[in-house]
Amino acid sequence: MMQNLPYFAVGEIVKGFGRGSKQLGIATANYPPSVVQLLPKNLENGVYYGFASVNKEDVHKMVMSIGWNPFYNNTERSMETHILHNFQRDLYGEELRVCILGYIRPQQNYNTIEELIKAINSDIEYADKNLNDPDYDVFKNHTFFK
Ligand code: ADP
Ligand code: MG
Repeated sequence: MMQNLPYFAVGEIVKGFGRGSKQLGIATANYPPSVVQLLPKNLENGVYYGFASVNKEDVHKMVMSIGWNPFYNNTERSMETHILHNFQRDLYGEELRVCILGYIRPQQNYNTIEELIKAINSDIEYADKNLNDPDYDVFKNHTFFK
C-alpha cells in the first residue's frame, strides 16, 4: 500500500452526509468524485496520514479515510480528511490540498459508535506522533503547499 505514496491531491471541499461532526464529533472534509476518481486503483482503502492545507493557508497534520461512499450507493470511493486543527469556520467551497504520506490501518466495521470514535482518536494520536518525524519536513515545506 506504500508504493503510491506520497500522493498529492487538490480539490474543493463539498458537503457529505454531515455524519462526521454531528455523530462522531470529528469533522471530515469531503472531496467530490472528480478528485477521488484520480486515486490510483491499487491504492487500497483504509486510514492514512499526511499533511493538509485549506486555501493555501498553514499546513496542518491530517488523517484521511479512503473507503466506499454511501452517498453514491457505494459505487464511488470517498476521501474524507480530518485536519488536526481547530478551524473557527466552515470550509465548504474552499480548496483542500493534501499530501498522503503513510498508511495506518485497513477499513474496519465497528459494533458501536464508541468503538469507532476510539479507533479514530487512536488514528489521530498515531498520525500526530508519526508526522513529527523530521523526515516528513520536506513534505510539510513542499512547494505544493506554497
Ligand atoms: P460533511 O458530511 O458535510 O463532510 P462533517 O460533519 O464531516 O460534514 O463536517 C465536515 C465539515 O466541517 C468540513 O467540510 C469543513 O467545512 C468543516 N470542518 C471544520 N473543522 C474541520 C477540520 N478540522 N477538519 C475537517 N473539516 C472541518
Ligand atoms: Mg465529512
